[in-house]
Amino acid sequence: MADVGMGEVETFAFQAEINQLLSLIINTFYSNKEIFLRELISNASDALDKIRFESLTDKSKLDSQPEFFIRIIPDKANKTLSIIDSGCGMTKAEVVNNLGTIARSGTKEFMEALQAGADVSMIGQFGVGFYSAYLVAEKVVVTTKHNDDDQYIWESQAGGSFTITRDVYGEPLGRGTKVTLFLKEDQLEYLEERRLKDLVKKHSEFISYPIYLWVEKTVEKEVSDDEDEETKKEEEGDVDEVDEDKEKKPKKKNVKEVTYEWQVINKQKPIWLRKPEEVTKEEYAAFYRSLTNDWEDHLAVKHFSVEGQLEFKAILFVPRRAPFDLFDTRKKMNNIKLYVRRVFIMDNCEELIPEYLGFIKGVVDSDDLPLNISREMLQQNKILKVIRKNLVKKCIEMFFEIAENKDDYAKFYDAFSKNIKLGIHEDSQNRAKLADLLRYYSTKSGDEMTSLKDYVTRMKEGQKDIYYITGESKKAVENSPFLERLKKKGYEVLFMVDAIDEYVVSQLKEYDGKKLVSATKEGLKLEDESEEEKKRREEKKKSFESLCKTIKEILGDRVQKVVVSDRIVDSPCCLVTGEYGWTANMERIMKAQALRDSSMAAYMSSKKTMEINPDNGIMEELRKRAEVDKNDKSVKDLVLLLYETALLTSGFSLDDPNTFASRIHRMLKLGLSIEEEDENAGVDAEMSPLEEEGNEESKMEEVD
Ligand code: ADP
Ligand code: MG
Repeated sequence: MADVGMGEVETFAFQAEINQLLSLIINTFYSNKEIFLRELISNASDALDKIRFESLTDKSKLDSQPEFFIRIIPDKANKTLSIIDSGCGMTKAEVVNNLGTIARSGTKEFMEALQAGADVSMIGQFGVGFYSAYLVAEKVVVTTKHNDDDQYIWESQAGGSFTITRDVYGEPLGRGTKVTLFLKEDQLEYLEERRLKDLVKKHSEFISYPIYLWVEKTVEKEVSDDEDEETKKEEEGDVDEVDEDKEKKPKKKNVKEVTYEWQVINKQKPIWLRKPEEVTKEEYAAFYRSLTNDWEDHLAVKHFSVEGQLEFKAILFVPRRAPFDLFDTRKKMNNIKLYVRRVFIMDNCEELIPEYLGFIKGVVDSDDLPLNISREMLQQNKILKVIRKNLVKKCIEMFFEIAENKDDYAKFYDAFSKNIKLGIHEDSQNRAKLADLLRYYSTKSGDEMTSLKDYVTRMKEGQKDIYYITGESKKAVENSPFLERLKKKGYEVLFMVDAIDEYVVSQLKEYDGKKLVSATKEGLKLEDESEEEKKRREEKKKSFESLCKTIKEILGDRVQKVVVSDRIVDSPCCLVTGEYGWTANMERIMKAQALRDSSMAAYMSSKKTMEINPDNGIMEELRKRAEVDKNDKSVKDLVLLLYETALLTSGFSLDDPNTFASRIHRMLKLGLSIEEEDENAGVDAEMSPLEEEGNEESKMEEVD
């Protein structure tokens, strides 16, 4: 392009995913195209927030343009729609990076969501809202001026690339950004005043900067008709007094005249300054959507003000869903906007709300913080600490309000139970209250989850503790051998099947004065036994003592000890962990987390105790055989097989499934009376796999 004295034209390729996204936006039919305006206005508002914040510490940043505004210009003659803001603008490097060459983490997620049937209006949540311009435009031109750079023009018709040109002759913006959309032929409705006004009202009503629309005005103007008057005078000549009066009013004519003017089309009084009883549900919903770019309404809202020594107003929302990157540690949650006396300060103030409440959205407007507060000051700030405490309290109140409606709470719990649990782990002050928000399936809960409170009301007479079992899934724990005696006694057991539950119980320890007791840890004592039963057990225990010893000899370091069980009724044996060791579930979680501290892993996971069931037929038979010859090969094989099976039924994983499988196969052959083919080929077929496995295991523990 031989340019007309403009800067040099540079062409850039869109980053691959952005390019894919653009094709998707352009080539797929979406009915909800109107959201493009909301996205562009929201970007304008963000840019204004940024410069306003910067100007608090350096007033001269506003010299380039002292006014804060967003302007919309529909141009019917050229079929363009322009959105202009006096925000921070972008330097050349920023415009290249932000609008095309650097992928946003949400790009791919958004495309996946779209392909899974999500609505295009979700785009803003994924951080790629700008590209929604291509829902309605075939070409987009962005002119931008940052305080630290010249004015630049970004231009693209999609199709893989965009150009950047230094804008030498264009109208200077002073500071800010102008986005001009060359509308597609079938999208000209976005030039209509009515449509634009409605859209701003619908999606952008709560933008806190004035949004001006360039509107056409037709005024009927009276112009004096000089010619007429003169002829009249001539005709009429002398006149009487009455006529004289009429005569003095100059004769006028109506002429239509088209003028243009800026019209403010949004209310800017912040909604949080209004009284809660005067704000409608729809207004909260509209505010929530404009604040968050969410396409759904909020699940719950809390609007309050705190007065007294310290004053602030706040509106907090609970969304209906968790965001796609809720626990993405790379991304800092910044969902609460902090204002100081109506002026937006920042939306990523970590001191404002604890991490576990990072999903809460809303605004806080403080009367007491200094306007030019710096990040460093925020960390120490006492006012902020008080605000934070209040926000947490109000959030928890809000959760209890949600819990009053079963369906709503199920939705909430589905999305945010992990946050509540994280809160129990982290927030010792509110731990007890948060515990009331927990819900679990249990041996008695049926299809609905139960609260700890309800559990307590169902406790059996004589039951002192609250029982729970942790594991990978409901299915994996509900038929666990550990539950056998508890179930038989009619004691309810909670299924804690979330990885984080392990941390929850380790912090919570008790509820309502009742201890939380794991069904899988050592030392589970059920106290309401009759004397006879106790005696019978004692005798049985004695008779199994030597078998316990034999088993321990066979299993070696695999277990810490072997004892006669009090808790199993049907299964032959199970593996339990010491009161302070890891449960099977915790071991699984820690292995999954690739724990670095291997000594810790070895220590914590080696504390397994095998409990055997003296009433089980297999154990009885083993006892008999071991009594005859404790070196009996079949005893050895059976014990190992029982151990490995118990690993599985107790929720641990097998370190070496192959050895286990070959042991099973050998048993199958035995059952089917098939002779082992190459029984004596080379090494001792019975012993070698076991020894290998032993080595493997100790190796594993070192590596883990
Ligand atoms: P998001 O707004 O979620 O960051 P967008 O795709 O809407 O994602 O915008 C991408 C980026 O482009 C913004 O983060 C911002 O840096 C820049 N940007 C877009 N519009 C403007 C604007 N009007 N003024 C200044 N920067 C802008
Ligand atoms: Mg945006």
